[in-house]
Amino acid sequence: MIKPKSNIFYAFLICLLWQSNFYAQDLTESLYGTYNDYKENSLDKRRIKHHQLQPLINNLKTDSRYTVKKVGESIEGRDLRLISIGEGPVNVFLWSQMHGDEPTATQAIFDIFNFLNGDAFKAEKKAILSKLTLHFLPMLNPDGAEVFTRRNALGIDINRDALRLQSPEGQVLKRIRDSVNADFGFNLHDQSRYYNAERTNKPATISYLATAFNYEKDINDVRANAMKVIVYMNNIIQKYAPGQVGRYGDDFEPRAFGDNIAKWGTSLILIESGGYGGDREKQEIRKLNYVSILSALYTIANESYKDISVEAYEEIPRNDRKMFDLKIENATYILNEKEYTIDLGIYRNE
Ligand SMILES: [Zn+2]
Repeated sequence: MIKPKSNIFYAFLICLLWQSNFYAQDLTESLYGTYNDYKENSLDKRRIKHHQLQPLINNLKTDSRYTVKKVGESIEGRDLRLISIGEGPVNVFLWSQMHGDEPTATQAIFDIFNFLNGDAFKAEKKAILSKLTLHFLPMLNPDGAEVFTRRNALGIDINRDALRLQSPEGQVLKRIRDSVNADFGFNLHDQSRYYNAERTNKPATISYLATAFNYEKDINDVRANAMKVIVYMNNIIQKYAPGQVGRYGDDFEPRAFGDNIAKWGTSLILIESGGYGGDREKQEIRKLNYVSILSALYTIANESYKDISVEAYEEIPRNDRKMFDLKIENATYILNEKEYTIDLGIYRNE
């Protein structure tokens, strides 16, 4: 609590808050506006495969700012590689595509590498890389990606293997989590395009979750920090996809990685890329991932997220599932020579 001092003090405070907000907005707009300069164009369709990523990762090895380490193999023998950059004391761990058919954020990660490798945004990059050390593990489930399925080659859902650790991919994730001991974690997924923001007819283009660490869904400092960063990212997405953000269900799942990683002390941010009208390849959603994740890294680096209120997190509408590819309303259906009015929802098989 701040004791009243003077109007000048308040004017100064408001000015400061406005300024920090202004600069963050400014960065976000620039990121959105210059995106095409950084988009990794070799990954322009959703069904990306492991072999497409390898030359891109090998390029990073030639840059001394990066550390690239093989940290394990999938069941079918595909390399899992951890890519680290930065010299800051705050560790941030981002992993994507533990479900093989959820590739949107993997593409965004390679856009982020292009951003880090470019010439522009020098001050922002310096702020990020001097305060943070970033660790990326893109495409944790390459065997699933190969055939565009959720599960790994053993048929295991890696995200239900956090305790038994029977999949080599899950073992790698646990080992890296323990060695990095990240302050912040980004758990990057895709969700059904049939999810909507509750009580609206808008798709949940992005859904967020500050993952719970117990059945009681308690909010400790670690979880509160994830909530604050999510509120920050929600404000960004609202600008480009108004009303199209949902809050993912926060029931505790004892077998899932996100829940356990939150329990082990990392502020865990789940991002689910959903649907967006006319964007079947999810390239606009990929762009929103790029803009919001980079902005989030910047707010974590300059600690401006700390001023955000946790209460605003609860105001984000929950996820619901009421979308269809085609909906026919008020159709007449004749049954036993009597007319009935029905609404018909149709899903299109991929
Ligand atoms: Zn998933």
